[in-house]
Amino acid sequence: MSGRADGLGEEIMSLAADMLCLDMRFLVQSVISLDVDVVPGSGRPVIGNGRVTFFEESVIADYRECNNLPARQLAHCAFHLLLGHSGDEVSDAVSLAEDIVVEYVLDSLDTPHTAIPGRDERMYACERSFKRAKAPVPLLMEGHISSLREWERGSYDSMFRRDDPAFRAPADDGRWAEMAQQAMAETEGFIRKTGEGSNALLSVLRIRNRRRYDYRGFLRKFMSRGTAVGEDPSEFDPIYYTYGLSTYGNMPLVDSLESSERRMLKEFVIAVDTSGSTMRESVETFLEETFSALMLSCDGKGSRLHVIQCDDMVRRDDVVGSKEDISELMSGFKLEGGGGTDFRPVFRYVDELIENGDLKNLKGLMYFTDGLGTYPERRPRYDAVFVFCDDRCRSHEVPPWAMKLEVTTAELRGFGGTP
Ligand SMILES: [Zn+2]
Repeated sequence: MSGRADGLGEEIMSLAADMLCLDMRFLVQSVISLDVDVVPGSGRPVIGNGRVTFFEESVIADYRECNNLPARQLAHCAFHLLLGHSGDEVSDAVSLAEDIVVEYVLDSLDTPHTAIPGRDERMYACERSFKRAKAPVPLLMEGHISSLREWERGSYDSMFRRDDPAFRAPADDGRWAEMAQQAMAETEGFIRKTGEGSNALLSVLRIRNRRRYDYRGFLRKFMSRGTAVGEDPSEFDPIYYTYGLSTYGNMPLVDSLESSERRMLKEFVIAVDTSGSTMRESVETFLEETFSALMLSCDGKGSRLHVIQCDDMVRRDDVVGSKEDISELMSGFKLEGGGGTDFRPVFRYVDELIENGDLKNLKGLMYFTDGLGTYPERRPRYDAVFVFCDDRCRSHEVPPWAMKLEVTTAELRGFGGTP
């Protein structure tokens, strides 16, 4: 703790930091590594690079109004950093949503030195907001917050803002992400003792700590690995490595082909779940990214890509073999279907294509879906990966023979942005 004003403000903030560590043990590391400055003047605290600047006049006035307020503000700022509310500029609505998420966690924890009046009103507004967005994810809350009427927006501002929204912390260099991992581990132990209050904290930490995928990198590897498997498997990611070997072990057809021939045949199946819940925009992004990865991984000659649309039955199968075919398919792409979700018809259909000789060297099948469906009981003869596009960051179970990728729309586009 350092600062230019040696006085009451400094003393209050030092006490606040102590109280915070006493209240929330999982936050100790974050509070210790945070530089808290108190400077003359008034205003809301400003979050910078691992540093929060408080203004003395406001600190004293806030403390007089409510003894817990400075600790609450400090906790609020520490949580922004811990939850990765930093880096690229965001809209005013997203920044307000970040404040709502932070305040919700603090109100849920409701610890002795951070509790402040107005909790019920804030909790009500938070829950309403999360319900609309379906998850406490700031980007998903943007729409709802933007649509609030002016007076409502104003009352949200005064309920949830604690720091100065004109300033945003620079991108995390990994330090805070690591502390978030640690906080989650500690909270998981702590929750058994304290129960419910920590559930909110754990759910936002889970979202923060979710593994991010480099979707393009995954595609590149998934599509190109066929030619090299068996020669140098060590260059592959463990998920393909452990999975790929067992699959290819059951595929004498592939193993008996010369590698030059294998390179010539580029067969791939992309299945799109067109049941009611699938979002059109994410399907388009998925197809665009997948096609461009495919184009990069092969020279386009002799490649055959099946694009199968299926809800609870196969609705359509487009075979594309060139860049031109792909652009044509994209320009007139309509989602066919809208029924329930069943993954089995696609696998049955693809098995038939193999039996008929339409597919001679299928490299893999990628199933794009956002929901629950029925999986085939038996392992297919080719690699299958289920790509779940779910901006709500829920996790999905797949059978042991399948690979899964859980991505957000932003990750599909290669942004890998903060949810
Ligand atoms: Zn804030």
